[in-house]
Amino acid sequence: MITAKKSFGQNFLKDSNVINNIVSSVDVNPDDLIIEIGPGQGALTTRLKEKNAQVIAFEIDERMHEVLDKLEDDRTRIIYEDILKVDLSSILKEYNHKKLYVIANLPYYITTPIIENLITLDIKIDALIVMVQKEVADRFSATPGNKEYGLMTVLINSKYNVKKLFNVKNTCFIPAPKVDSAVVKMTLRNDVEEFDFNKLKKLLVCSFQHKRKTLKNNLSKEYWEVAQKVLFENDVDLNSRPENISTDLYIDICNKL
Ligand code: SAM
Repeated sequence: MITAKKSFGQNFLKDSNVINNIVSSVDVNPDDLIIEIGPGQGALTTRLKEKNAQVIAFEIDERMHEVLDKLEDDRTRIIYEDILKVDLSSILKEYNHKKLYVIANLPYYITTPIIENLITLDIKIDALIVMVQKEVADRFSATPGNKEYGLMTVLINSKYNVKKLFNVKNTCFIPAPKVDSAVVKMTLRNDVEEFDFNKLKKLLVCSFQHKRKTLKNNLSKEYWEVAQKVLFENDVDLNSRPENISTDLYIDICNKL
């Protein structure tokens, strides 16, 4: 047994029901490709292999060779690299696949940068099913008007429909983390008009600069002129705070800037 390293966010899943529920939350076919982030001791990888799809797993901790080597074959590849540093686009060029999924029990210390990187890349990911800290799941799936609703909520919801699937108790892991967790499913939206993702990000950084201020007071004069028109046309209070504006309205503002 390899001892867990806290610095790598290692909390290994031991509950087979949770593992089954994660793996069966998406309908994977043999010509699909699954990216797993942080296979650890292979709890999820072993079950993902049974789906017969191609799997690429990125693991930062080389000690895991000891348990993961035996899982490698012509359809399952383990890459020992930091997921935040790999050039995913060029690795994916080596693959032929229909749908692309990310399935992972994420290391909590870098959940947000990992998700932000993945959704910013110009790669079509059909769905992400990820285990995250419960508070993070609540933030990702928050609706306007809730205190958890913020920049990341809008950024993710601009591309994905987010659904919290189930909560996971800390006793389902070894070692048990101090916090509870939840599994979130993000499914690529096909109902959204095209927009410039980086432009939206810039608008959101300004909009959520001071959450307690109104949108008007957070935005520059130039941005507010456009935002004001969109809010007015949609019957939205011009004194709204950033957390009261829906994702689709932010996209609308972005497209009119
Ligand atoms: N998937 C396993 C499971 O469910 O039991 C392990 C999950 S554990 C929460 C997170 C895993 O991510 C660990 O194996 C850790 O070494 C790995 N990890 C941490 N940071 C990483 C990074 N930057 N890139 C790739 N893997 C990373």
